Amino acid sequence: MIDVNRKGEVWIFAEQEAGQLSDVPLELLTKARELADTLKVPVGAMLLGSGVKSLAETLIARGADKVYLVDDAKLARYQNASYRTAICSLIEQFKPQICLYGATAMGRDLAPTVASAMKCGLTADCTDLQIGDHKPAGSEVNHENLLLQIRPAFGGNIIATIVNYDRWPQMATVREGVMPMSEAKPSRKGQVVACKGGLDALVLPLEVLESERREKKVNLKASRIIVAGGAGVGSRDNFKLIWDLAHCLGAAVGGSRAAVDLGYVDHDHQVGQTGTTVRPALYVACGISGAVQHRAGMQEAAKILAINTDREAPIFSIAHYGIVGDMNIVIPKMIKAIRGGASIEQAAKA
Ligand SMILES: Cc1cc2nc3c(=O)[nH]c(=O)nc-3n(C[C@H](O)[C@H](O)[C@H](O)COP(=O)(O)OP(=O)(O)OC[C@H]3O[C@@H](n4cnc5c(N)ncnc54)[C@H](O)[C@@H]3O)c2cc1C
Repeated sequence: MIDVNRKGEVWIFAEQEAGQLSDVPLELLTKARELADTLKVPVGAMLLGSGVKSLAETLIARGADKVYLVDDAKLARYQNASYRTAICSLIEQFKPQICLYGATAMGRDLAPTVASAMKCGLTADCTDLQIGDHKPAGSEVNHENLLLQIRPAFGGNIIATIVNYDRWPQMATVREGVMPMSEAKPSRKGQVVACKGGLDALVLPLEVLESERREKKVNLKASRIIVAGGAGVGSRDNFKLIWDLAHCLGAAVGGSRAAVDLGYVDHDHQVGQTGTTVRPALYVACGISGAVQHRAGMQEAAKILAINTDREAPIFSIAHYGIVGDMNIVIPKMIKAIRGGASIEQAAKA
């Protein structure tokens, strides 16, 4: 734990693998920039790895004022012991007031162990972060400018705002794809601070002999149009209709968790609270009821078209266009109209 430090910077963990930054630190930088501007402090990025200095340029272009670089052979591959040691050492040395991590496999492994080692708080899986005040019940003290850590709780039925006014740094993991990523500004200037990371005495508990990286089959976050199917599709074979409509529209294929659990489509395609969060220009939801956990992953789409037999389905409450009908009848008609040159709007009307 560090002392409450109002001048502390806002930091993000710059997750990288094999010298490649993932999207999530770039999304975090956009949010960190906004929080830091409110607090009038700089943005820092913790960049850990071996031979990764060149990534500092990207982090600065995306909003970091300082990049705290720990470049060490012991950080060549992610291991909790070495990454945790280096991050705790940076936090103790520079005392940031906020540290943000992606809620990725790495972030979910790393952040709790940093919190435990530092004896500070951590809120997992935030969907929003803001700066605000908090006066605990029965207290005279108003804690100003805290990190409001906002996340769904109780299966998404409530949105909880969590604050940490005394066990700093304030730490949170943030779901991938939730924060928009700002454009890079290559002309931005920043500083690279080379740090030791306290790794000299550390004996790595694991020796990684080989690793294999499995690429995701689909990049839903990058897709402008997504056609998604749910339990209402009825079978893996019938999911071909979803693939056909997607193909016609040059879209990616998504699925609800029910569709994934039923084996209609692979997990890489899952949209929602425990899947991918997407913001496409168009999201076509076919046979999806629109449970809150599904909506959490797609409700920021610019336009939503829902096809469902049940006019009371919650998906219609957020859809811009709705078709009450059997997708087995509606989708083939849409495909025919699109192949005949109709736009998606014209096809939906057909
Ligand atoms: C902690 C937690 C995390 C979760 N995470 C996720 C997540 O990431 N993503 C996610 O999707 N869910 C998630 N869920 C599950 C979620 O609560 C729902 O169970 C799930 O989204 C339902 O999927 P569905 O809409 O496909 O199925 P259903 O709710 O069964 O809905 C099927 C829909 O299809 C319609 N239908 C049936 N036949 C047809 C037809 N022929 N034509 C058109 N419509 C038809 C029905 O009217 C119905 O509305 C999570 C749940 C929990 C508790």
